[in-house]
Amino acid sequence: MSLNYRLTPGLLALRAEARAVGAAGIAAHGVHNDSWINGFSKEFSETIAAQGWVGMTWPVEHGDGGRPPIERVIVAEELISLGAPIAASWFADRQFGPSLISYGTHDQQAEYLPGILSGATTWSIGMSEPDAGSDLAALKTSAVRAGDVFVVNGQKVWTSGAALADYCYLICRTDSTGRPHEGISELIVPMDLPGIEVRTIRDMVDNTHFCETWFTDVRVPVENLVGVEGAAFRQTMTQLEHERGGIDRLVSNKPLYDHARSVADAEDPRVRQQIARLETGYRLGRILVYRETLRQAPPGFSAATKTYCTEHQQRVAQFAAGVLGPAATLDSPHSRAFAYSPAYTIMGGTSNIMRNILGERVLGLPREPRA
Ligand SMILES: Cc1cc2nc3c(=O)[nH]c(=O)nc-3n(C[C@H](O)[C@H](O)[C@H](O)COP(=O)(O)OP(=O)(O)OC[C@H]3O[C@@H](n4cnc5c(N)ncnc54)[C@H](O)[C@@H]3O)c2cc1C
Repeated sequence: MSLNYRLTPGLLALRAEARAVGAAGIAAHGVHNDSWINGFSKEFSETIAAQGWVGMTWPVEHGDGGRPPIERVIVAEELISLGAPIAASWFADRQFGPSLISYGTHDQQAEYLPGILSGATTWSIGMSEPDAGSDLAALKTSAVRAGDVFVVNGQKVWTSGAALADYCYLICRTDSTGRPHEGISELIVPMDLPGIEVRTIRDMVDNTHFCETWFTDVRVPVENLVGVEGAAFRQTMTQLEHERGGIDRLVSNKPLYDHARSVADAEDPRVRQQIARLETGYRLGRILVYRETLRQAPPGFSAATKTYCTEHQQRVAQFAAGVLGPAATLDSPHSRAFAYSPAYTIMGGTSNIMRNILGERVLGLPREPRA
């Protein structure tokens, strides 16, 4: 039996179209490494939405999507590889739309999906807290039912894009009497509600997507609860699966790679070997992502896909630093992209946590006894 990884003529045409739209996007808005977090342009998100490239795979009853998942991967790979600014629509396209389709009420779908599909609304995810990152079940932000509202109090941190978002998809605690994984709920929080304060964090390479978000007596209508009150932990984990196995984990710093490769001394056999390894890495990573996309990977395997792909991105950064030499220490988009690279194996769950998931859920190894 032979495997054929060639794209069909239709997919090749779609790829060329995405490349052309992405090229126009970077001409207008600049090149961004990690453009799905750092490249924010509402205008460009509305452009790709008008192309039908937001919610591409959603069931047709929720828009004009219904396209095969492979088409979405092809488009996303081109846009992100070029560094086109898709951050205004990416999070909702990748995970909140699918979550609302799976767990939302009919009214929630009718209210929120059109804004996502048109690129008009931007969403952020309020999950991590100062004392709850890897151990999400330790989260403390509370939502207490009071008549027809939940009253939300607490603090989130590392909330990418919160300062520019219209909604926060908030993971919070509606009950603290049970075990840590119990009592967790998901709420849609409009960012213009009274009691929300957002402070931007400038990271060491000058990005400003990170935010701290405070909620003080924020009154969120009960109809903004997504899914079952107090039973959202599994729902949240499913949402994270949407986050982990995608092409965004493989090609985020492709602009850095393309630059480094263009200036690398390809006469040097050691450099050629590095390029060969990285080119192989892109191909292996793409196959892993395709397996996730086509739902051929075992449950939980997105943890392995994320680990391989994000560690590949760090190898790309190391290669670029070697090629740039002392220039990698001077301030430039390339040196910033290099210095940013530790983030890849932290965001969306660290490699340590991914390896735990792989060991326990995929390989069935014994769990480490809790201290
Ligand atoms: C670029 C970027 C964007 C982000 N965007 C968002 C966002 O939009 N919304 C949001 O909510 N969060 C966001 N985050 C936060 C991210 O999800 C957390 O940083 C991540 O989950 C790790 O949590 P922590 O930083 O609290 O580290 P900790 O959980 O404190 O971990 C510290 C170290 O201990 C290790 N560790 C912890 N527990 C274990 C264990 N059981 N076994 C082995 N090792 C362990 C970790 O691997 C890590 O090395 C973002 C992070 C980054 C870098």
